[in-house]
Amino acid sequence: MRLLVIEDEELLAASIKAGLEEEGFAVDVAHDGEVGLWHIQEHSYDAVILDLMLPKVNGYKVCASLREQGNWVPILMLTAKTGEWDVAEGLDTGADDYLTKPFSFVILLARIRALLRRGTTERPAVMQAGGLQLDPATRSVEIDGRPVDFTAKEFAVLHFLMRHAGEVVSKTDIVENVWDVEFDSDLNIVEVYVGSLRKKLGKGAIETIRGAGYRLSDDATGNVTE
Ligand code: CA
Repeated sequence: MRLLVIEDEELLAASIKAGLEEEGFAVDVAHDGEVGLWHIQEHSYDAVILDLMLPKVNGYKVCASLREQGNWVPILMLTAKTGEWDVAEGLDTGADDYLTKPFSFVILLARIRALLRRGTTERPAVMQAGGLQLDPATRSVEIDGRPVDFTAKEFAVLHFLMRHAGEVVSKTDIVENVWDVEFDSDLNIVEVYVGSLRKKLGKGAIETIRGAGYRLSDDATGNVTE
């Protein structure tokens, strides 16, 4: 089993490498995102341990660029507990799991073994609702074949609604799945995002269900009357 550690704190990288080698893994180390990506293109890895804040190319971008190239190597993201990490965004970018620093080596090892058991994740399927098409792998959206740009948060809200197309979801459901666990703002932030999604998708695409939440129409291109 061959692993790649992309981590710019050299002491931490060296200690992870030493620990994993003791467990019988072959381990390469890169200290920035650019070198990390190069390693992944040159060699084949069973899993990648990827720090989020990295010189040159950060962890989000390393992850997104691998997934865009169709590389589904399992990725464990390492993050500091400063709130720099947005769980939904990170997992949407294509990380399989994450671990907050500081962590114990035992936990790291357990997470890696779990990832290796799960194996390479499949490319997520392109989702469709009426003329609306969302590709979680490339984070792109098309409406009737026309590409439309969404911000990261708009995309995350839309992705959640599409996973539940035709169902009623509450603001709490959306917040819990799109914002991270530390979220403590007003639930009404959801209204703001639904409003901007409606502008792009057409007014009738997302119905308001009074007192319950929202429902993305199965034909989510604005043809539905409210
Ligand atoms: Ca770092």
